[in-house]
Amino acid sequence: MSTNYYHQFLDGSPCGLPAGKVVCVGLNYAAHIQEMASQKSAEPMLFIKPTSALTSLASPLLIPQGLGSVHFETEMAILIGQELNQCSEPDVLPAIGGIGIALDLTLRDLQKQLRDVGHPWEKAKGWDGACPVSAFLKPDKITDLQNVSLSLEKNGDIQQDGNTAQMLTPVIPLIAYMSRFFTLHPGDVVLTGTPEGVGPIVPGDSLVVALNDVLSVAVTDIRYRSSS
Ligand code: ZN
Repeated sequence: MSTNYYHQFLDGSPCGLPAGKVVCVGLNYAAHIQEMASQKSAEPMLFIKPTSALTSLASPLLIPQGLGSVHFETEMAILIGQELNQCSEPDVLPAIGGIGIALDLTLRDLQKQLRDVGHPWEKAKGWDGACPVSAFLKPDKITDLQNVSLSLEKNGDIQQDGNTAQMLTPVIPLIAYMSRFFTLHPGDVVLTGTPEGVGPIVPGDSLVVALNDVLSVAVTDIRYRSSS
């Protein structure tokens, strides 16, 4: 399956950055650590989704069938605009190329199985289409990265209603930390963790995923992907 995904800006202006890898942080909101019955880690817990996980939040979401529950995790997404390699914190803000909202889709049952035997999570987090992202806002549309509301409504009910003020590691030190391990290239995307309220999606569900009052995406077409 190829997704034909490319980055877009919400205002329709050309983006031109290539779709890259997605560097993610787990357990970055205390209340989500509680609901997952996980432990707070001393340093940010990082993982990567491949480019092939990227898909548009506005197109049909194709989810795997027969691998257990698929959970949504609503996360602020940062589009990297300039290379960051072992950078310091003041280097981060000028390198941010856009801000959007993403779903860190997770095969929750498979993740638990893999965790229980100490195996990596890639199959649970990195499958084709496991990272639907919105079009991006220009960075100047968000005045304070640590005061951004994130919400997800499923079938008319609010499931997630968080704020980036609740992050354990804020965006700027998080991205600087990531760049110590992984060079971030223009077109890479950083996912910043999910607040509490994660839950399952199945075909037929409809979602509204929103960031502040400036970005809102209705997801009305969730399907099982064909198994070919
Ligand atoms: Zn996540």
